[in-house]
Amino acid sequence: MSGSIVTNTETKDLLRMERVGAHSHIRGLGLDDALEPRETSQGMVGQLKARKAAGVIVKMISAGKIAGRAVLIAGPPSTGKTAIAMGMAQGLGTDVPFTMLAASEIFSLEMSKTEALTQAFRRSIGVRIKEESEIIEGEVVEIQVDRSMTGSSKTGKLTVKTTDMETIYDLGNKMIDSLNKEKVMAGDVISIDKASGRITRLGRSFTRARDYDAMGSDVKFVQCPEGELQKRKEVVHTVSLHEIDVINSRSQGFLALFSGDTGEIKAEVRDQINTKVSEWREEGKAEIVPGVLFLDEVHMLDIECFSFLNRALEDDMAPVVIMATNRGITNIRGTKYKSPHGIPVDLLDRLLIISTKAYEEKEISQILTIRCQEEDVEMTDEAKDLLTKIGVETSLRYSIHLITAANLVARKRKAPAVDVQDIKRVYMLFLDEKRSVQAMKDYQDQYMFNESEGGMAIDT
Ligand code: ATP
Repeated sequence: MSGSIVTNTETKDLLRMERVGAHSHIRGLGLDDALEPRETSQGMVGQLKARKAAGVIVKMISAGKIAGRAVLIAGPPSTGKTAIAMGMAQGLGTDVPFTMLAASEIFSLEMSKTEALTQAFRRSIGVRIKEESEIIEGEVVEIQVDRSMTGSSKTGKLTVKTTDMETIYDLGNKMIDSLNKEKVMAGDVISIDKASGRITRLGRSFTRARDYDAMGSDVKFVQCPEGELQKRKEVVHTVSLHEIDVINSRSQGFLALFSGDTGEIKAEVRDQINTKVSEWREEGKAEIVPGVLFLDEVHMLDIECFSFLNRALEDDMAPVVIMATNRGITNIRGTKYKSPHGIPVDLLDRLLIISTKAYEEKEISQILTIRCQEEDVEMTDEAKDLLTKIGVETSLRYSIHLITAANLVARKRKAPAVDVQDIKRVYMLFLDEKRSVQAMKDYQDQYMFNESEGGMAIDT
């Protein structure tokens, strides 16, 4: 009976554990300002060449220098390809769209493969829209003021007690006029009475400004500079082309954005959006922010998707496509031909290729240490050595997975830290890939639909 009772602390722990994702320890690419990789930084360990190359690409994307390029991260399983892509996403900043898609996800019954890819492409293109916002009463508005004497600009703040832009402009300009007359210095706190336009100098004390405000003054300027009032408040927000498509697609409506059930979007809708966005660009109301589409397991795409990619990358609104694969020379899906990574050579030819290599023992040990910290797991040095050895023999991913399991076993026996015995226990409980294949071979006769005689792809 007691086994079914879950205490509050346990529930909380479970929730917390769920949030520790496979790459949650990655906080960036771990490069210095000169784009040189630090040995261990921002959760990243080793893989120096690949990280540096990824950093150069991030720099180019951030500078808006590249769009419509494709990068391939190729390397053996669990050598950090996805981790590097996550690090790149962190380096890009929040308003550069980053979309992640496993190639197998495009094979859906609800939409065609090319529609799924088009949506992924358009999710990865941001439209930065500039708007002169409606000002709401009570809001703190920043007004940029040019200092005519020095040519430099400064920002002043104004608490708005009116929504009328003309009044706000008027007050701003009165402030500038009066600065000279009243010998108010730049940096002073002053207030302007909305009704009379009278300026009162409040010195440099913010406390007094607050007092004044509390007395019910209409408008308050803080730290006003000299010069001319330049522009009203400008709001910039970035949405993706896909979001604009969905909102304007009559059959879907914007609610589809929340459900994710966007269905296919008509070509005419996209054409209209493209025309509109081009107009905004010409009028200076919007700019295009090419983002990143990360396509994992790219060998899962078939020949139709590859030819779609070739064409889509030529579009002037294409994102940077980063692909990852752990396959060697293999079949191109949908054909009888083989090619490196299962990618047709004409597409391969346009890719910048970053390769990752298997980790050394020291690096595996460092990554395991970082993962223990991330998962809040105490582990003895001996246990960590053993886990590292397991990582070398099996795979990094398998040894990372054992951390949580070993921690549960250690907690069960009320130990303060995971020890060798806990690692041994979970190693026996959960098979790694090699032992799993061996078990298959040993017990194949007992499985259903066993086809190994007929040449099932089990490595012997
Ligand atoms: P696959 O080809 O199997 O998809 P992958 O190359 O994408 O593998 P990841 O998923 O990135 O491998 O790596 C496996 C685990 O190891 C992840 O939890 C990842 O965050 C971590 N990891 C891999 N490389 C590093 C690294 N250099 N520094 C820190 N953590 C890493």
